[in-house]
Amino acid sequence: MSIIQRGLRSLFLGELLSGMSLTFRYMFKPKATLNYPYEKGPISPRFRGEHALRRYANGEERCIACKLCEAICPAQAITIEAEPRDDGSRRTTRYDIDMTKCIYCGFCEEACPVDAIVEGPNFEFATETREELFYDKARLLANGDRWEVEIAANLEKDAPYR
Ligand code: SF4
Ligand code: SF4
Repeated sequence: MSIIQRGLRSLFLGELLSGMSLTFRYMFKPKATLNYPYEKGPISPRFRGEHALRRYANGEERCIACKLCEAICPAQAITIEAEPRDDGSRRTTRYDIDMTKCIYCGFCEEACPVDAIVEGPNFEFATETREELFYDKARLLANGDRWEVEIAANLEKDAPYR
């Protein structure tokens, strides 16, 4: 560009106008960004988020304390203790997940024969302390109760591919 062309461009604010025209063009295009946390993008039914322990519709825990999830966990993040109930059924007395060890591989969910332990759609569970990420059975069951509708819908969508 010659000195005269550059001078004319500066005199008539050419760069400012081209910048403004670019801004106006993008003002009327669909937005590429989301206003998180008020807007959220879609997530896959297979998304591996925060863990939850599910119940049957009658409120009974699904988990039968087979310990397959504990055995398969490559991070050794799961700790289970179990004993038989008075009715002879086997249930956990302790079900802990150390979420600071978990690598979200999904093996626990894959191993579970009764879809009890699942990784739900929740990804907003950051904490301020490590201790808050040591989940116990009560916390996991509460997660299951909170997310059951979404978890059940996701498992149904994924069922043809399992
Ligand atoms: S997602 Fe993987 S690492 Fe995390 S608890 Fe389950 S098996 Fe262990
Ligand atoms: S969550 Fe599933 S795999 Fe783990 S102990 Fe319970 S029934 Fe077995």
